[in-house]
Amino acid sequence: MSIFQDNLERLQALASLDGISAEDLSLLSKPALVSKAELEVGGNKYPAWRILYSRDLGPGKGGIRFHPEVSEDEVQSLAFWMVLKNSLADIPYGGAKGGVKFDPKQADKTELEAISRAYARAFQPVLGQDKDVPAPDVYTNSQTMAWILDEYESLVGHHEPGMITGKPVELGGIKLRSDSTAQGGYFIAQEMVKEFLPGKEAKDIRVAVQGFGNAGLFMAEKLFADGFKIVATSDSRGGIFKEDGLDISALSAFKAEGNSVNDFNQGEAISNGQLLELDVDILVLAALENQITAVNADKIKAKHIIELANGPIDLAADKILDAAGKIIVPDILANSGGVIVSYFEWAQNRTGQILDEDYLKNLLEKKMRGNWDRMLSLYREKSNISLRQSAYILAVRRILAAKHWRGGQA
Ligand code: NAD
Repeated sequence: MSIFQDNLERLQALASLDGISAEDLSLLSKPALVSKAELEVGGNKYPAWRILYSRDLGPGKGGIRFHPEVSEDEVQSLAFWMVLKNSLADIPYGGAKGGVKFDPKQADKTELEAISRAYARAFQPVLGQDKDVPAPDVYTNSQTMAWILDEYESLVGHHEPGMITGKPVELGGIKLRSDSTAQGGYFIAQEMVKEFLPGKEAKDIRVAVQGFGNAGLFMAEKLFADGFKIVATSDSRGGIFKEDGLDISALSAFKAEGNSVNDFNQGEAISNGQLLELDVDILVLAALENQITAVNADKIKAKHIIELANGPIDLAADKILDAAGKIIVPDILANSGGVIVSYFEWAQNRTGQILDEDYLKNLLEKKMRGNWDRMLSLYREKSNISLRQSAYILAVRRILAAKHWRGGQA
């Protein structure tokens, strides 16, 4: 199954929904630059990619993923979503993504460093603060970014902290970046509750969160602190369920000690599949793509779904869920807090100015809530589209406007 094919179909559907011409849509149907390499580390060869999908609105921007299932189809799809996300977020970036196919859980720190540095060497010619700017994604973090930055700077012979975001604070990163994806998602969750669960108090709202990493863990913590009842969560090894709500603070501390979620001494163990089918008010998807497909879509009981992960619902499932009247907050809005704060970090690196943290916190909130409002108002205006289609239309309109201003092919 090709994830990218799904994306093209979602894109083409916009012609009938917003009158965007098929010719214009075809301008977005392929990536601008696909770079591939085999990273040779310790006698092994690891396939690696950096795909710059579009640079119409600015340099490429998007994370690097380390995962045994990484493929070109996946990286290209993630790069495509970054284009839409950056456009919708109204920040001056095109879109890109990278990945290395290997199992980081089987690698020690020396190997992780060697693979990160090999990645920087392989893709140095296509990276740079004005070309394409990576960031963390699944199983990469600020340490990975630091190794890549260090290797890149030693190759180009000058400091260039703006070539990567999600760096440690000491190397030009900003504190806000660590939980920014979840912080943005949390503002969106509040807006969604206000709009679609009016009058319902947090303590009466039951939530399940799939994935307990950077996105899922911080999201669960924020919702828990706000009084929401988190009845289930999971990581790659499985999940746990507790009818009257989990103590997320205790679970975070347990996970930070290197334990798996389903070894926690509260509630009962469940599988990731069971978690998705729980009867909850809000299901937060914060793991990987294609978690809800035609196989399980009709078993989903949650009425409201927030996509904190990229692409967790495939096209076939999307149609089934839409027909069932589910409210799905799309990834390109829900998880855009990460790249918005990456933009703050990059802007700070470019100007050398240090911006006030409270100012940036407010700016993130303003952008997230403002982008929600724009998506919702088009959704209401058109009345026959989903929230995802509304977000896609807004994103595509901005990219096409930039293409037309540039002239040439458009
Ligand atoms: P992470 O590596 O910090 O955490 C991933 C989590 O998912 C871990 O808890 C892992 O155990 C769990 N997981 C892996 N496979 C799973 C499976 N099959 N079922 C259930 N759980 C599984 O990664 P992250 O940064 O939290 O990324 C999660 C999702 O959020 C990805 O889709 C990523 O692209 C997206 N995202 C992340 C950011 C960011 O800033 N980190 C920004 C935007 C979007």
